[in-house]
Amino acid sequence: MKVSFIGIGNMGTPMAAHLIARGFDVTVFDVRQEAAREFVTAHGGKMGTSLAEAGRDAQAAITMLPDHSDVRKVLLGADGLVSVLTSGAIAIDMSTSDPNATRSIGHELAERGIWYLDAPVMGGVVFAKDATLDILVGGDDEQIDRCMPLFMAMGRHVFRCGPLGSAHALKLLANYVNASTLVVVLEAIAVGLKFGLDVRSMTDALTSMCCGRQHPLEKKVIPQVLTLEFGTGMALGLMAKDVSLAADFAHKIGAASALAGCMRQIWTDAATKIGTKADHTEIVKLWEEAIGAQLEGCGS
Ligand code: NAD
Repeated sequence: MKVSFIGIGNMGTPMAAHLIARGFDVTVFDVRQEAAREFVTAHGGKMGTSLAEAGRDAQAAITMLPDHSDVRKVLLGADGLVSVLTSGAIAIDMSTSDPNATRSIGHELAERGIWYLDAPVMGGVVFAKDATLDILVGGDDEQIDRCMPLFMAMGRHVFRCGPLGSAHALKLLANYVNASTLVVVLEAIAVGLKFGLDVRSMTDALTSMCCGRQHPLEKKVIPQVLTLEFGTGMALGLMAKDVSLAADFAHKIGAASALAGCMRQIWTDAATKIGTKADHTEIVKLWEEAIGAQLEGCGS
């Protein structure tokens, strides 16, 4: 398969190198021409001196760019890839992009007979170098099948997420969970430090109490919320009390804890609205009410 790879940065470099190693006919392009030149010297393949040159005759064009505005420019801008891609070719955006922008780009490409998939990756440069990225893919199933050899050259798992844009949406939500969890853990450790706790004791205990089987997704959301069991045995009022005590504790020792105040507010509101005797996982009802979504039956 003749592949055009646009964006030879930290992620694109190892990803495109794996494609070449697996025998794909790859032409790379980057606005930093020296990066493309160095890439070809190190890994082989060809270099395009313009987008049009990189995209000519390509059956697949992969973008690995900072964001969706770069992707739009590369695909649909003046002298973008659409000027050379032929009907039936497929463009694959592996950047982390805005899901709505992805849908609108896909719509414009479809008018020109070009397929579009969103295929963002989970895992950073280390995983890109090992070809062990997890690849989330959105779009037409047959086109995903067609691109599977490309994906499996760069990653270890492909998750089919649904129609075009679904993978970019899921990627953003996954990063939202990761970013939020990182901040919560850092805040907890910082408050503990201020109180005089030993960092190693904290990381050991938090790993055992909050990771793996104790992670809320595995322990609560999947078995208790999505099944509507709501049977953890821990009352909402008790969890609200614990969060409130944690916020008070941090405040009393003068530890910065912006999230704790926010969490106290959320849990106290939930206890008032849903009831202190409800299972604490029923806090999901706050979101069900706010967005009008029902989780009932989602777990079956
Ligand atoms: P990067 O900045 O290292 O690479 C982007 C490359 O795109 C650069 O080489 C840049 O010169 C090139 N570029 C920018 N505009 C261009 C254009 N108009 N035409 C051609 N080339 C252009 O970024 P990265 O770390 O490789 O990340 C790429 C994407 O992958 C981002 O969307 C990022 O959010 C996502 N991502 C990054 C990581 C990570 O750990 N770095 C992990 C997962 C996903």
